[in-house]
Amino acid sequence: MRIDLHSHSAASDGTDTPAGLVRNAAAAGLDVVALTDHDTTAGWDEAADALPSGLRLVRGMEMSCTGRGEDGHPVAVHLLAYLFDPTDPVFVNELERLRGERVSRLRVMAERMAADGLPIDADRVLAQAGPAAGRPHLARALVEAGVVPTIGDAFLDLLSPKGRYYMAKEDTPLSDAVKMVQTAGGVTVVAHARARARGRLLALDHIEELAEIGLGGVEADHPDHSDADARLMKDLASKLGLFVTGSSDYHGENKSVELGRFTTDGDALADLLDRAHGVEVVEG
Ligand code: AMP
Ligand code: FE
Ligand code: FE
Ligand code: ZN
Repeated sequence: MRIDLHSHSAASDGTDTPAGLVRNAAAAGLDVVALTDHDTTAGWDEAADALPSGLRLVRGMEMSCTGRGEDGHPVAVHLLAYLFDPTDPVFVNELERLRGERVSRLRVMAERMAADGLPIDADRVLAQAGPAAGRPHLARALVEAGVVPTIGDAFLDLLSPKGRYYMAKEDTPLSDAVKMVQTAGGVTVVAHARARARGRLLALDHIEELAEIGLGGVEADHPDHSDADARLMKDLASKLGLFVTGSSDYHGENKSVELGRFTTDGDALADLLDRAHGVEVVEG
């Protein structure tokens, strides 16, 4: 079985429509794909309606969180959430708040660039980005305006947390997010915890604390992890009794990685399914 549990559509910062994404997942030979857009479930219905026969869809999301960094200071962390009830009122409110943060911070970043003379129109960027606006939308605008040659180049400096235009979002504290997802019947997985190129790293003992309150798993095989870091995450998972996932974190044309580049074992998927009961897996 080929299982990819982390992908993005144009409902957040990917470029495939949700329908296009599930068609591409089938074409890539996947048996199971999870749609995990940032802070939104807006793509779920379209993906489910378009699901090719033989493909299973795990409805999920990647939630913007804040955790304790290795240096003791707060750090941005992505928490994958699967098969939760998307109508849970507390959860719905928090996701609306997170999307509000996304839009207002991207506007500030775009306006800072425009004020500095870069050819960026904040209204236009925000209109193209939609409710789950993210830095990749601004990166595309910078490429289209000829400021940088590629999206990757935009992240090197202009969009970097160390850069002059960056603004942090007010994300959900990790432990609150883990509990919220559980209350809504879902299961959680810490995404790409060792993605060094993105900035500072989450303290490993914070993952241990999350395990105590019900975290389900950790992502180990991921394009932004070295072999050594993937191994580290697998060792930590076995120590803490967590399951391990591997995934592509596909973003269509906004990143170079293909669907199915990394995959998850059937046993880990079985663990995940055992622990989640908010909504069902959709069978194509
Ligand atoms: P945001 O959620 O607005 O903070 O933006 C983070 C998103 O930017 C991530 O989910 C990735 O999709 C994307 N991203 C981060 N680093 C890079 C990079 N070096 N190249 C391309 N996309 C990136
Ligand atoms: Fe993304
Ligand atoms: Fe992520
Ligand atoms: Zn992602």
